[in-house]
Amino acid sequence: MQNTLKASVTFEGAGLHSGQPARMVLKPAAADHGIRFKRTDIALGNSVIPARWDYVERTALCTRLVNAAGVSVSTVEHVMAALAGCGVHNALIEIDGPEVPILDGSSALFVRGIMQKGVRRLSAPVQVLQVLKEVSVEKDGAKATILPCDRLMIEFHIDFAEQAIGRQSKTLDLRNGAFARELCDSRTFCRRADVEAMQANGLALGGVPGENAVVFDGEEVESGEGLRHSDEPVRHKMLDALGDLALAGAPLMGRYIGERAGHALTNTLLRALFATPGAVRLVECDAAMVARLPGQGLVWGEIPAAIRKVA
Ligand SMILES: [Zn+2]
Repeated sequence: MQNTLKASVTFEGAGLHSGQPARMVLKPAAADHGIRFKRTDIALGNSVIPARWDYVERTALCTRLVNAAGVSVSTVEHVMAALAGCGVHNALIEIDGPEVPILDGSSALFVRGIMQKGVRRLSAPVQVLQVLKEVSVEKDGAKATILPCDRLMIEFHIDFAEQAIGRQSKTLDLRNGAFARELCDSRTFCRRADVEAMQANGLALGGVPGENAVVFDGEEVESGEGLRHSDEPVRHKMLDALGDLALAGAPLMGRYIGERAGHALTNTLLRALFATPGAVRLVECDAAMVARLPGQGLVWGEIPAAIRKVA
């Protein structure tokens, strides 16, 4: 069955790129509503933005959704990953600013907030997108692939010149609460060399190294408390991939492979998947399939203590 939230949950804070504060309220929604954002600070015209791949404006550093009226919301990927990872299929997300609060740079606080209120089962079956053919896209030495699989698997490979990052690879079966256990607390990261360039372009204005982002500079790491996992960067890339894949419009059953891929390339992959005849079909979940969905069966007590306690 489809799920929604048991009760509304509120998050407040500045956006990573705009630096602008926003109050965001995740509200329960009916079956087949899907995930939609609503800009409550915009009074005129259409302020609703569906969280779907065909509303994505492909930008390099975050995922930004824009509707036909030009109303947008930025950096949706971490909250989308949390909703997908907790098995929430329907929610209305009201936000009074242009960008989702970055909080600690990960999805941990979103997961904690959602699971503290709990997830409610609705009386309509879940439809899933079953991948039937391999589809692959490449750009500038990066590659993203999706291939048939009876569950959602995410595999990621990164390779950075910074010694503190280097080469990292990880593969995860997203069944049950794997996202909450393995990925949700891994934070946004960047290279010191990129910070000034981003800020000169009006990006990362809300970034605070060690507070909402991990900054790597050669062998140096500015991370506040220290790294949460020795391979925190690749885990964050997997978190981003889950958030971007959640924009497919229904849970995906397939194996995603990201090789140095980013937000724009994962969106290009979804566009290619839907444009390839016979590559994907929408099917109603049977009991066996439901048991393999991300977030299915995740309960508060199963969330790691460190995430239950995050301030
Ligand atoms: Zn991210």
